[in-house]
Amino acid sequence: PALRVMSSDVHDDNPYSRLMALKRMGVVKNYEAIRGHSVLIVGVGGIGSVVAEMLTRCGIGKLLLFDYDRVELANMNRMFYLPTHQGLAKVEAAKKSLQEINPDVQIETHNMNICTLDNYEQFCERIRNGNLEGNGRVSIVLSCVDNYAARMTINSACNELDQIWFESGVSETAMSGHIQWLIPGETACFACAPPLVVSEAGDENQIKREGVCAASLPTTMGIIAGFLSQTVLKYLLDFGEVSQFLGYNAFTDYFPRYPLGPNPECTDRKCQERQKQYAHVPEEEKRMNASR
Ligand code: ATP
Ligand code: ZN
Repeated sequence: PALRVMSSDVHDDNPYSRLMALKRMGVVKNYEAIRGHSVLIVGVGGIGSVVAEMLTRCGIGKLLLFDYDRVELANMNRMFYLPTHQGLAKVEAAKKSLQEINPDVQIETHNMNICTLDNYEQFCERIRNGNLEGNGRVSIVLSCVDNYAARMTINSACNELDQIWFESGVSETAMSGHIQWLIPGETACFACAPPLVVSEAGDENQIKREGVCAASLPTTMGIIAGFLSQTVLKYLLDFGEVSQFLGYNAFTDYFPRYPLGPNPECTDRKCQERQKQYAHVPEEEKRMNASR
């Protein structure tokens, strides 16, 4: 209800009046549209929890949170969770805090590993029916996981369901990170780009190595979470440009940004199918998407 305030009755104690200023100033055509969107987040760790908080403060309609882990004191070098959350399922701890921040947001939680067969089915079902009314697909899927298997699972689901998604990550050294926009058939899928997959697969083996601990910084994770949240707002509310790949190098303050086309020889059969479908999309429609 708070979002129904008119731009004329601006009260400084209302957080939404500051968000509505984006509309008055011509940045966003229709800010209220945010209330109608639902965002599915896989992984509410260092990146995902901060994205969930940012979208909650922005007045998103609904969040669907997936994670199998519990909050540990070792997570306190990241943003969002509090020592009092120790031992709680991350999705439950997140729900508690997010509802206190903004009770208008619907929060759905799934304390599960998306990679098992049964859970994969449930994950796909929530992508298909997770909108606000529960009768249509979510607006966007966000990958905020830290391993190769979970990313490949999200990739398969989104290629199968023709679902647009964003992938994010921070390197093991915590000195670089990236976000990537994946549109089945139109941009590279996670299996399309062999160098990325190979290097991530390599990292994955290192993470599993006994006694090796990946570095982590609230700074780098916060920056990538900010990039991802900002990009989700641009995508959902249709303003500015959405980068296909946006990187961050903390050593040199370098932010590479480039398009990533699909690989016609991708190992994901569904990806190849989507690429063939995309080839038949009329050119005007392709340009419309490209200009987003
Ligand atoms: P660390 O391993 O350093 O303690 P972390 O496991 O919290 O960190 P982050 O990078 O902060 O890792 O967050 C990634 C999140 O993604 C974690 O909360 C993790 O539980 C979640 N995640 C990873 N794989 C899956 C999966 N298959 N299903 C559900 N959640 C997943
Ligand atoms: Zn592919």
